[in-house]
Amino acid sequence: ELILAFESSCDETSVAVVENGDTILSNIIATQINSHQRFGGVVPEVASRHHVEQITLVIDAALKEADVTYDDLTAVAVTYGPGLVGSLLIGVSAAKAIAFAHHLPLIPVNHMAGHIYAARFVKPLVYPLLALLVSGGHTELVYMPSAGHFEIVGDTRDDAAGEAYDKVGRVLGVPYPAGKEIDRLAHLGQDTFNFPRAMDKEDNLDFSFSGLKSAFINTVHHADQIGESLSREDLAASFQAAVVDVLVHKTTKALDEFPVKQLVLAGGVAANQGLREALQNTLADAFPDIELVVPPVRLTGDNGAMVGAAAHIELEKQHFADESLNAVPGLSFAHA
Ligand code: ATP
Ligand code: MG
Ligand code: FE
Repeated sequence: ELILAFESSCDETSVAVVENGDTILSNIIATQINSHQRFGGVVPEVASRHHVEQITLVIDAALKEADVTYDDLTAVAVTYGPGLVGSLLIGVSAAKAIAFAHHLPLIPVNHMAGHIYAARFVKPLVYPLLALLVSGGHTELVYMPSAGHFEIVGDTRDDAAGEAYDKVGRVLGVPYPAGKEIDRLAHLGQDTFNFPRAMDKEDNLDFSFSGLKSAFINTVHHADQIGESLSREDLAASFQAAVVDVLVHKTTKALDEFPVKQLVLAGGVAANQGLREALQNTLADAFPDIELVVPPVRLTGDNGAMVGAAAHIELEKQHFADESLNAVPGLSFAHA
């Protein structure tokens, strides 16, 4: 079984060839970060134009690297949401064109399911499982009773974790996307600011990051006003400690409520070294029977391979789309 998988929901144009849902034959990722950096975030019109320019090159590169032709394929899969409509449409149109020209089934994939299924490249997933899904647009605890079934049991009330990293990055003078650099700085500093851990004491599995972001920005602006210089490393370390503390705390709470076999860490923020270490340590101490599954860093960000892994499950269930498939920018697990 070979799936040609498309991802174009935001600012990465990616096409992969995935065998049997667990083996990557190719995973070409054309990133547009350089074009968006000077704007401090993704500009939708610029993103769509880049996808149009890149998509055929990326398809050709993916087939070439995998050493396969269209005739070898079993199906075509594509992210149809959530994401930017103009970006999603480029991948959806390309995938449709190839599927119908080559008489292949078309598999629609939820981008967030893709992030979770990136873990499948590490080891087989065992259900029920819990996923901590942390990315640029989402911060959710997702319970999966079985393959392809998703229940959001915790969610952010405001900003996503990755969004908070990127906003705080602007104040620190770190270019977009700021997560990786803040993570690096954090390891050089100490948690001296003791920023708020929002909703930590509340009896639910939800998150909030806007108060932390404001506390951070106010601290920096106040120091600027009085001419005091603060350590960027300590600011980064303090911010990251607050984010990691609440993520780990609510995940622990969810694991108490939902007895699972595995915890999957997924989404762009899953690249965070502080978060990876903290979850590793917490599981070893408090839940030694639960296995932590974390994708390699190169598969935590947006990529086609994760879409191919998620599509494998949909293919087994014969969940196909026809030529009427459209982008759904606000797609959630509730639709699935
Ligand atoms: P979504 O998946 O919710 O639709 P997205 O696709 O834009 O949003 P991703 O590509 O999954 O988001 O993740 C990008 C985010 O991950 C950015 O906010 C970036 O700052 C963050 N990120 C990347 N590396 C790290 C890191 N090491 N530490 C913290 N955050 C990181
Ligand atoms: Mg991106
Ligand atoms: Fe993403």
